[in-house]
Amino acid sequence: MSEHDEIFTTEDPATAEPLATAATATTGEPAEAAASAAPATPTAAPTPTAASPAPTSNPADPAFQPHYGKRKKEIQHVDPDDEGAWATPPALAEKISESDARSAALAHSGWHAIKTREEQADQLSHAIAQGRDAFGFELKTELPNGTDNNGKQGLGQGGRRHGRTGVIHTPHGDIHTPAFVPVATQATMKGVLPEQIRGLGAQCMLSNAFHLNERPGPELIDKAGGLAAFENWDGPTYTDSGGFQVLSLGAGFKKTLAMDVTGLKDDDVIAEGKTRHAFVDEDGVTFHSPLSGKKERFSAEISMQIQHQLGADIMFAFDELTTLMNTRRYQEASVERTFRWAKRCVAEHHKLTQERSDKPYQALFGVVQGANYEDLRRRAASQIASLDFDGFGLGGAFEKRIMGEICAWICDELPENKPRHVLGIAAVDDIFAAVENGGDTFDCVAPARVGRNGAIYTHDGRYNVLRARFTDDFRPLEVGCDCYTCQHYSRAYVHHVLKCKEMTGSTLATIHNERFFVRLLDEIRDSIDGGWFYELRDETLARFYRNGSKG
Ligand SMILES: [Zn+2]
Repeated sequence: MSEHDEIFTTEDPATAEPLATAATATTGEPAEAAASAAPATPTAAPTPTAASPAPTSNPADPAFQPHYGKRKKEIQHVDPDDEGAWATPPALAEKISESDARSAALAHSGWHAIKTREEQADQLSHAIAQGRDAFGFELKTELPNGTDNNGKQGLGQGGRRHGRTGVIHTPHGDIHTPAFVPVATQATMKGVLPEQIRGLGAQCMLSNAFHLNERPGPELIDKAGGLAAFENWDGPTYTDSGGFQVLSLGAGFKKTLAMDVTGLKDDDVIAEGKTRHAFVDEDGVTFHSPLSGKKERFSAEISMQIQHQLGADIMFAFDELTTLMNTRRYQEASVERTFRWAKRCVAEHHKLTQERSDKPYQALFGVVQGANYEDLRRRAASQIASLDFDGFGLGGAFEKRIMGEICAWICDELPENKPRHVLGIAAVDDIFAAVENGGDTFDCVAPARVGRNGAIYTHDGRYNVLRARFTDDFRPLEVGCDCYTCQHYSRAYVHHVLKCKEMTGSTLATIHNERFFVRLLDEIRDSIDGGWFYELRDETLARFYRNGSKG
């Protein structure tokens, strides 16, 4: 989900969904989800203030404002059975088929085998003995520089391409990259067991420090032996810092920020009818808990303390997330503030690592902000790269059409020997752009969230299984898919249980959609190693979007 417009497609309640936009590159769900398991309520798009400068189409222009328009009614033409309309070149089809077979085999055996508790304990005691060396990144294959199949140069300096494959080693196991990271915001994916997430081939999961701090509390998860042990996941885990969730309290579903109540009018954009619940100051953020209503505080140190207690293998530094609505002046100040917070995170992380030396090493990723501005992105990246981080998060406001450029600017400034996580994207074209330009891992709630509303990803685009035509369609969600749902259930059944709002409907749709993205990243990884990335990219995108599909 990565359109930059903060809008909803509302013609069909079944397909209406809040867009976790690239403009707000989220990791996990917004803070309001902590208070309710229901999908976030659509909100009106923020309107630029009267004082805003005239919009320009150049994102580097200080007067640039993204366009927030209402999307016209969109008719889905996707026909998942229209196989004759698309003919994959035979050589590529063979490669994709080999890749899928390998992916399916890995999903059900090999390094996806679920370990016993004893095996997990052995692995962790070995990791504790290794200390910091238990974490690392091994670079395997880099995309070649020079022109691609369409005669286009890479977007990095000198036409460089930063895309690569590799392996992230963590105390709880390896992650082969590029990889899709399913989101288990509250230490669970809605309606899907960790065993099922493992069974669909996922290598790791991401949870959120803000939500887990609200409940059950980091002390309890620490007592349980850390996040992986608590949620019965025998693989690597990530936690996001909670920064996005805290800051999203600014204006309901979408965050807006200000340094104080009265200042910075241009940045003080609040969705109509919403009340600001979060305020940024130099030291951190004060906010009202969506659960208790009490005033609470997040800062670099507090986020680090919470994340150390949660015990994920990969943590993110606490950063300030701005939106494309913020002024250039505010973006500049925010990048500097994020750098100061990053230094404090590193210091606190060192202290806690020493104090908790009986625990497996937890890696810390610094987050690069800077919105759409090339100079700010490069400055932020080199600042963050100068600190003692184990990897990096590419975060903040992304505008979809320059997503690849932004990744390339950042990766130009980052060292090659550390992993890079792109926070909160899941449109198919965004994933290809981010991989090509240096992203190693990617998370987003979108496949699960839209799946619960009946939206099904296929190689031929997205369709909604709740539509009437699927009532008596006894074929799988996607013909040829190897996921558990498609191997055992029909469209008619998924249609039925989703219509009845049975939990099984969410489970079955989520398994298929998550498998779609996990397998896509498996194919991309194989294609980089095998030298056919551009063929896969061009074929996949042409096929997925040929009918104007979303996603
Ligand atoms: Zn499937």
